[in-house]
Parts: sequence; C-alpha cells; structure tokens
Amino acid sequence: MAEALYRQWVTDLEAVTTLPQPLRRRLAEAGWTVGRPEIVQIFQSVDGTERYLVECRDAKTAETVETVWMPEGDGGEAGEDSETEASGPRDVPGSAPKSRNKAWSRATICVSSQVGCAVNCQFCLTAKLGLQRNLTAGEIAGQVVSVLNRQGVEVGRDRVNLVFMGMGEPFLNYANFMAAVRLLVREVGLSPQRMTVSTSGIVPGIEQFALEPPDVRPHLAISLNAPNDRVRGEVMPINRKWPIAAILETVRKVRLRPRERVTFEYVLLSGATDRLEDAREVARLVRRSGLPAKVNLIAWNPGPGIPYAMPSPEAVERFRAQLIADGVPTYLRQPRGRDIYAACGQLKRTVEPTA
Ligand code: SAH
Ligand code: SF4
Repeated sequence: MAEALYRQWVTDLEAVTTLPQPLRRRLAEAGWTVGRPEIVQIFQSVDGTERYLVECRDAKTAETVETVWMPEGDGGEAGEDSETEASGPRDVPGSAPKSRNKAWSRATICVSSQVGCAVNCQFCLTAKLGLQRNLTAGEIAGQVVSVLNRQGVEVGRDRVNLVFMGMGEPFLNYANFMAAVRLLVREVGLSPQRMTVSTSGIVPGIEQFALEPPDVRPHLAISLNAPNDRVRGEVMPINRKWPIAAILETVRKVRLRPRERVTFEYVLLSGATDRLEDAREVARLVRRSGLPAKVNLIAWNPGPGIPYAMPSPEAVERFRAQLIADGVPTYLRQPRGRDIYAACGQLKRTVEPTA
C-alpha cells in the first residue's frame, strides 16, 4: 500500500497492482478506498507561486487547507538551501541528466499541519479561524504527494524543499506531524535535510523534537518575532505560557548536525518590532543564546482586519544591516504570491465545509 500511495502516487484501489486482484476486490467490497487530499482549486501568482486549496475529507466533512508551491524557493530559505547543499544528498555521478523541460530548477512546498490554528498570534490571518481540527499524517503527507504529482516532480532528482509553515502549529499536532515526516522520508523518499519545521515555540513539542533521530528530523525554525518577552507577549500571547528563555533552553537540547543552524524567523511589524533598537536587542539575544543560528526576516504581509502595518523597505534594510553588523547571519524572506494571498500568514479564508 505504501509503495502504491507514496511511490506510485496511485489514487484508486483498482490501480494498486502491488496487491493481487482478488484482494483488491475484497477490500473494495468491504468498503476500503485509497486516496489522498485532492487539489480542488488553484490560484496562480504572477511570480510563479501556486496556492492550492486541498480538500481533506473525513467521514463527516470535507475541509480545505492550503498548500503553496514556490518555484525557485524563496529568498529567505536560500540560506537553508545552500546549507543543505553542503551536507545533503547529491546527484549520483553518471546518472542521467535532469530533464530540462521544467520551468524551475528547484522549488519549495509550504505544507499545512492543521485546519486553522489555536495559537492566536495577533499578526496572522490563520489565527482568525481558530482551530478546526488536526490533520492526519496521511493528510499532511498527502498534500505533498498531490503537489509533487501536479508538478511532475522526480523524487531523488529534482531539488524540492519542504517547509512546514502553512496553516497550523505543527508542534500542537506533534504525533501526526512527525508520522507524516516519516512517511515523506521513508516512503516518498524525500530527505529530512531538505525539510524545515517552524514552531511558535511550543516547549513540550520542542522537547519531543529534540529526541527524534537525525535520519527523520527536519531542520528547526522558531518564530521569534520580537526582541523581548514584553513585546513578544503582545504579538504572540502564547509567550506568556512559554517565554523566550524557556524556548531557548529547550532548543539547546536539539543535537544539531555538523554545520546545521537553528533559524529564528522574525516578522517585521512597522513601529512595533522593526526599530533599530529592536534589531540590536535581537542580535544580543541570538548571540547570547550560544546557538548556531541565523535569522530569517519576513516583512509583515497584510491581511484584512489585522491592525498592523507593513514595514517600509528602509526599515527592513536598516534592520537587516544592523543584525549583520552585529555578526548575526541574516536573510530576507521574499514575499511569494502576495497577489493570490499565498504569502506567510495569509493562509486562511478557505474553510468551507461542503458536506
Ligand atoms: N505555526 C507555525 C508555522 C506557520 S506560520 C509558526 O508560527 O511558526 C509560519 C511563519 O509565518 C511564522 O514565522 C509566522 O510568524 C509567520 N507569519 C504569520 N503571519 C504572518 C504575516 N501576516 N506576515 C508575515 N509573516 C507571518
Ligand atoms: Fe498559528 Fe503560526 Fe499563525 Fe501563530 S503564526 S497563529 S502559530 S499559524
């Protein structure tokens, strides 16, 4: 079954030719089906990004989550990418050349882990949904398979990165999230060195993550988003439960691979988190953490009803330059697909139970 679903990307029990025909018939008669979340709507951006509404059915309802395809990755993840290049798997010498009829040479898929989110970050559109439900491991891995299939990705040849940064908080759906990673690594054949999971700082989740064996552990990104507990508690109320020091202490338990770094994501909110003194404070905080780390800056993407403003390009540049001057490796994550509501923190709107 795993071979059929995750290697051959079969969506119909009748096509599971790895099982004998009489067995397939018996399974069908007993009511078994096979399948995966289905792409039911596609939004295409001028920059090549595609946002998908992916339908996840259970016995009672069909809900949609969002998955995003970003050809050529995104600016901020470039740091991730060049890094994995150094340590990740390489093309086998002498193997057939990559088919060149693709419009992209590498790509990143942004994957959802829950329908909605319970965390309530004040700047995030997904928060407005509240948590509808957890996705199953099959639904999380299935989103990826649906996109690989649509894009004709050749696993093992094409450079595809996964970021678990879509709707939801992966570490509040920990068991299903990690089960999905194991499916994606062991059955689909993707490398955990090309995967990054982002968390808002769920300490018990990070504790568990620290125990994962390296052969299935993705890279870790922490949504820092503020220079200190006071400001972070305002923009991310969850900080009152798990403050910055508790998060850092737990992140230190993760046994990083050689050259691996932890990413700190930092959303720049105009006037609230994007000032020069904020940059200095962030640099101090990151340096004092003692962690091999880098910072991914994200200019806030607007959404209806969210009371923040986008930072000016000058503020973004000033912030970046200060971090670099203070010795912190810093990347700027380019917004992708803003015109189709696919950029960070813009995934929301599309939860219409159809059954
Ligand atoms: N729940 C996880 C992963 C999904 S959010 C987490 O919070 O880390 C992925 C990233 O998008 C986070 O770093 C978050 O801070 C950021 N983000 C959320 N809303 C945003 C917005 N409106 N503009 C830019 N980034 C945003
Ligand atoms: Fe949830 Fe992440 Fe959005 Fe916060 S930023 S509400 S944790 S999806």
